Amino acid sequence: MFKNLINGEWLDGASVSRNINPSDTRDLIGEYAQANRAQTETAIAAAHAAFPAWSLSTPQQRFDILDTVGSEILARRAELGDMLAREEGKTLPEAVGEVVRAGNIFKFFAGEALRQSGDVLGSVRPGVGVEVTREPIGVVGLITPWNFPIAIPAWKIAPALAYGNCVVFKPADLVPGSAWLLADILSRSGLPAGVFNLVMGRGSEVGQTLLNDPRIAAISFTGSVGTGQKVAAACTARMAKFQLEMGGKNPMIVLDDADLGVAVNCAVQSGFFSTGQRCTASSRLIVTEGIHDRFIAAMVEKMKALKIDDARKAGTDIGPVVDPSQLAQDLEYIGIAQAEGGRLLQGGEALATNADGQPGYFLTPALITETLPAMRINREEVFGPVVSVIRAKNYDEALALANDSPFGLSSGIATTSLKHATHFKRHAQAGMVMVNVPTAGVDYHVPFGGRKGSSYGPREQGRYAAEFYTTVKTAYTLA
Ligand code: NAD
Repeated sequence: MFKNLINGEWLDGASVSRNINPSDTRDLIGEYAQANRAQTETAIAAAHAAFPAWSLSTPQQRFDILDTVGSEILARRAELGDMLAREEGKTLPEAVGEVVRAGNIFKFFAGEALRQSGDVLGSVRPGVGVEVTREPIGVVGLITPWNFPIAIPAWKIAPALAYGNCVVFKPADLVPGSAWLLADILSRSGLPAGVFNLVMGRGSEVGQTLLNDPRIAAISFTGSVGTGQKVAAACTARMAKFQLEMGGKNPMIVLDDADLGVAVNCAVQSGFFSTGQRCTASSRLIVTEGIHDRFIAAMVEKMKALKIDDARKAGTDIGPVVDPSQLAQDLEYIGIAQAEGGRLLQGGEALATNADGQPGYFLTPALITETLPAMRINREEVFGPVVSVIRAKNYDEALALANDSPFGLSSGIATTSLKHATHFKRHAQAGMVMVNVPTAGVDYHVPFGGRKGSSYGPREQGRYAAEFYTTVKTAYTLA
């Protein structure tokens, strides 16, 4: 049994959850503790008690701890990647890549602890000096989704600690294995007891307790829009700071002048890799008339060559869907798209087993053509390997269609026109804009986040993370 880390001790939960491998549902990865409300409150109290001392720790202390954590993650990339692929279902190369990213994030924020700075200004009043400094905000509650089981926890935990905050971390129920391994590494890094706490358990119990507790100064949340709205309502009611990263319906425009190979690679990569379970996945392809048929033919050819299999098997391109309810949602949206007039041109078939007879949640990637902008498949996030195609007359219409969405996370274009690329970078209504690169797949040292219904609050990652994890103080001194 894998336990929760509360106030520096490994503690049993009130119940247990079973972690199942989606590539082979006979494979029980482990049993993990599930905390209840009282245990969550104990973790919050421990973090609250640890804050005064930790908030005054030196940048050198914080650098050393975060750098140690980053080094261990990087050294154990194969083992951590194997756990990630086994519990979440992304392929081994993708999983190891995510682990490396997490290690690099800890290294980056180790440096940020040293680089934290402020401003010294002259006052408008004679003889007075003004200093602007940043201070930690207190205890932060970190709530994460299942699709990036180590990178998203890393990009919340590392800046929280780097800037001197204490943490209560609640991972997603489906992926406790990666969260537990990360907590184990943190528990041996030299952090004082209570500074970092792992509390696995249900969102409605552990998550909700974090949202409501006045000792939690801020919540950083990544997950679905529905849960994000609950976070916003609870935090607003008690005036706590919060940050939300939620869904996407990310468009990728393919113009007549695109390099066909580049366009197809970007579309297949960001539409289907990681089983399409990425908030930045290109799920809406907007293709101009002159290239439409050639592009679709090349997509289908590439899709037919993809190997859908056990996430940990060498040569697998696409692993399984994460669980039965996500699989049901993917299939439901394929049905809705067809009922509304879309054409399922390729894939979309659930496979009860892989070629070796392993029971799992396998789904062949689906391409749905001839869709119209108002269809549900073009408005709502599916969160699976399901991509729809909309025809556009020209660049102007394509841009308008791309922007016509309640979401605004990542937006892409494939073109060889400098004029259109430049115009698109300025006019795409999204937090991240991609020219001839996939909409999914971002650097770890620059801001991440979206606009409209995709995000709320300051950006995550890079030095912009300080906006959320610190509060500004302005000090006036009469000389
Ligand atoms: P989810 O909203 O179901 O769960 C996210 C987390 O919230 C989990 O840890 C869950 O246990 C917790 N939770 C559930 N109910 C809660 C409550 N009442 N109070 C507090 N916490 C609660 O999302 P998911 O299914 O785990 O993840 C998929 C979603 O995440 C997709 O919509 C995807 O787009 C989004 N996502 C967004 C980004 C981004 O940065 N924009 C990145 C990855 C995933």
